[in-house]
Amino acid sequence: MSEFALIAKLHSALAVSHPEVQIKSGDDAAVIVGDDKHALAISCDTLISGRHFPRNTSAHAMAFKALAVNLSDMAAMGAVPRYATLALSLPKACANNDFISEFAQGFAMLANQYGVELIGGDTTASSQLCINITIIGKLPIISGSVEALRRSGAELGDDIFVSRELGAAGFILAQLEKRLPNHIEPIKIEKYNALDYPQPEVILGQKLRAIANSAIDISDGLLADLQHILSASGFGAVIDIANLPLAAMLKSPILREELNWAQQLALTTGDHYGLCFTAPRQNRESILALGAWRIGTITQEQGIRLVQNDVTLSLPISCGFNHFA
Ligand code: ADP
Ligand code: MG
Repeated sequence: MSEFALIAKLHSALAVSHPEVQIKSGDDAAVIVGDDKHALAISCDTLISGRHFPRNTSAHAMAFKALAVNLSDMAAMGAVPRYATLALSLPKACANNDFISEFAQGFAMLANQYGVELIGGDTTASSQLCINITIIGKLPIISGSVEALRRSGAELGDDIFVSRELGAAGFILAQLEKRLPNHIEPIKIEKYNALDYPQPEVILGQKLRAIANSAIDISDGLLADLQHILSASGFGAVIDIANLPLAAMLKSPILREELNWAQQLALTTGDHYGLCFTAPRQNRESILALGAWRIGTITQEQGIRLVQNDVTLSLPISCGFNHFA
């Protein structure tokens, strides 16, 4: 059973539906209307050592990343993050001053940057190191309706953008896990920041509320995550490979000859935590001015069509990460 079939099954027998829950499961966050001026966007994400980050990741980086991936869901909704709860499952060996101080500093770095207050949580001993964060943010209500970026808002003819260059985290992970294809030499990587310290697009998300029609954060892979926008919006997309912004790491001399492989990484690897979003043609210039890259167009024809120099290419076998595929 795939991750998404499993989630659908969980929901299938449930009958409760409250009117104040305006956006339900299926987007980057749920939205609950609070007072008449604000709604609350709520989301949670779990990171497990050895699964979502390499086992030797520092406590500082794992805390930063756990909060970053949650903030990224707030960014994808255009919400202003405000509160978090933190459920920590820790092996006994981690319950020491050094680990916890480092962890606290990594968490505080992002929490302080974005004004997030830690309002609670839970701590247990466990054989498996596991970090679960619930993040709560605010969205404005204007003329009675919640101003949220949604996966379902894409419209025919929309431009498709990504907020920053692609593929660096995917490359680092492939190299660390010794999954580089035989003909590709490892490169010297100075810092693992793209993997360990992903930057959530919190400020961009809030700016996009007024000018974009739909958005998602790239956690599993560009193609897989774009497909969520397409399924929720009922459209397809054409992506021009020549316009994909590749991370500097993928343009190093060693990889210059391996453009196809670099493009596959850019299209299918996750851990990116930038945004993929769509917007009407008339907003193109204002969006490009924010530093985003235009990579394609929303089409009537369903599915994703990859083109290069007007030639249609076949889609990669896997478009992104799925926990149970
Ligand atoms: P994201 O990558 O943005 O964190 P996911 O792919 O994890 O989102 O989840 C997709 C949607 O399914 C989200 O709306 C999430 O809230 C919902 N979902 C995931 N797991 C569960 C679960 N165990 N119970 C209820 N809803 C779930
Ligand atoms: Mg998300």
